[in-house]
Order: sequence, then structure tokens, then C-alpha cells
Amino acid sequence: MGTQVATHMASIVLFGPPGAGKGTQAALIMAETGLPQVSTGDMLRAALAEGSALGIEAKKYMDAGLLVPDSVIIGLIEVRVEQDDASGGVLFDGFPRTIAQAEALSLIEDVDAVISIEVPDERIVDRICGRYSCGDCGAVYHETFNPSAEQGICDACSSMKLKRRADDNEETVRSRLEAYHSQTAPLAQWYDERGKLIIVDGDKDIAEVGNDILAGMAGFRD
Ligand code: ADP
Ligand code: ADP
Ligand code: ZN
Repeated sequence: MGTQVATHMASIVLFGPPGAGKGTQAALIMAETGLPQVSTGDMLRAALAEGSALGIEAKKYMDAGLLVPDSVIIGLIEVRVEQDDASGGVLFDGFPRTIAQAEALSLIEDVDAVISIEVPDERIVDRICGRYSCGDCGAVYHETFNPSAEQGICDACSSMKLKRRADDNEETVRSRLEAYHSQTAPLAQWYDERGKLIIVDGDKDIAEVGNDILAGMAGFRD
């Protein structure tokens, strides 16, 4: 199945509410297609860690569970897609999140498919509040649903820098869900009207969701 999927993909978008499993499934799609992952959330956190003005500005929004302004995000993406590794397309994770972002993207990249991972709101708080990830390789874990084999050690790279995100608390999650429903969810229809949307039920175990995504992508290309 892998080689079939990989043959003629331009960029792919992973779409869904916070905690849907975008980052988790990105690892699988990257392995399958060879596309590099472009996560705007990771880029903003990296900018903050570097102490850049952009990162410090973005933090205000992230801490409040609000979307960072479109102009900031589109500027980051314009620079990122010019890098060498992006020439064969990329896997967008958490971008676009507004119709304005999708319109801007349509001018700079071919999007082949948008994989929408659907998860009901009532699952999201548990997912986000149990999430932790590897500071070195980015592998994503969950205290209950997907713990690392040895506590405190990353399965993928053996790093001991496992960490939780500052915005992964119940209060911020509620605002993020609100932002998702009002500003991001309408994009699903926007992409559906353009014949790009693949809907996957994200309320299953991680391996099943992964299989459904690969099957959806293979079916989409036929
Ligand atoms: P997103 O990138 O969409 O915000 P993540 O991939 O970071 O979501 O997943 C959020 C949390 O939920 C993580 O702790 C992850 O381990 C866990 N998770 C992801 N997919 C599933 C799933 N299908 N079932 C249970 N937990 C999941
Ligand atoms: P999650 O998938 O758990 O929502 P992300 O890492 O994708 O987390 O995003 C974290 C925060 O970064 C968001 O709550 C928002 O403030 C900001 N952010 C990330 N991507 C975008 C985007 N495309 N547009 C606007 N804000 C964004
Ligand atoms: Zn790691």
C-alpha cells in the first residue's frame, strides 16, 4: 500500500480539533509518503524557545487558547515552503486553521488531500490533559492511551526530555475548542467543496485510525 500512496502526492493537510491525533498520525504519513511535517504549532513553540519577537507575540495567543493572527502564520509558511526539503510538497499539521489561511495557501502550494480526523469534544479534554512529548524527536505520548514503554524515556530516541505543553490544561483546551468550532471547522466544508476532503473517524485506537487514513489516501488516488 505504501508505495501506491507515495507515488504522486503534492502537499497533504492534517486537519482536526486540538488533540484529534494529527501529530500522532503525522509520523505514519511521513513514513509512508516521505513528506516532511510542517506543524505551525511546533514552529511557534520553536520561535518562542529562541526568544524571537514573533514567538513572544504568539505566546499571548497560545496561552489564551486563541488563534495566532493569520498574517503571522502565513508569513511563517511562505518562508517554510521555500526551503529545499519542501520542494516535493509537505505534510501540513495544524495549518490552515482559517479560511483566510487556506486561501493564502492555495496561492503558494498544491494541496492534494485534506485528512480530517474527527473526534467528539467530550474526548478532547482527556486527550490533551494526558499528552506529553519528546523534546528531542517530537514523538507524542499519552499517560493512559499511549505511554512510553519505560516511564520517562522516549521509545523512539531514548531521550529523557519528555515534557508537557504549557497550553495543555483544561481551561485553555476549552478556548481552543471554541476557536476550532468557530474559525477552523468551517474549513472542512471549504475543502469538501473543492473535492479534497477525506474524513476519518479519530475516535478509535491509534493503529486503527492510522489504517483508516492510509486506506482513505489510497482510495482517494484511485
Ligand atoms: P493533535 O496533534 O491533533 O493535537 P496529538 O497527536 O498530539 O493531537 O494527540 C493528542 C493526545 O492524544 C496525545 O497524548 C496522543 O498520544 C493521544 N492520542 C492520539 N491519537 C489517539 C487515539 N486514536 N486514541 C487515544 N489517544 C490518542
Ligand atoms: P493543537 O493541535 O493541540 O491545537 P498546535 O500545536 O497545533 O496544537 O497549536 C497550538 C497553538 O498554536 C494554537 O492553540 C494556536 O494558538 C497556535 N497555532 C498553531 N497553528 C496555528 C494556525 N495555523 N493558525 C493560528 N494559530 C495557530
Ligand atoms: Zn524522542
